Amino acid sequence: MRRSHDHLTPAGMSVCTNCGQVKKPHSVCEACGHYKGKSVLPAKQSTSNSEFTTEA
Ligand SMILES: [Zn+2]
Repeated sequence: MRRSHDHLTPAGMSVCTNCGQVKKPHSVCEACGHYKGKSVLPAKQSTSNSEFTTEA
């Protein structure tokens, strides 16, 4: 995962309010699956990957 310019938002891009990753405006963050402060990540992949726990 690259974290080059955390404080730089390219024109026409938005920043995820959850993880701070640059994302497309009005679209779900591809990094964490959040949109407008809500987790809208499709719960399809039910793997045993429990890295996405609530760590407040
Ligand atoms: Zn995010």
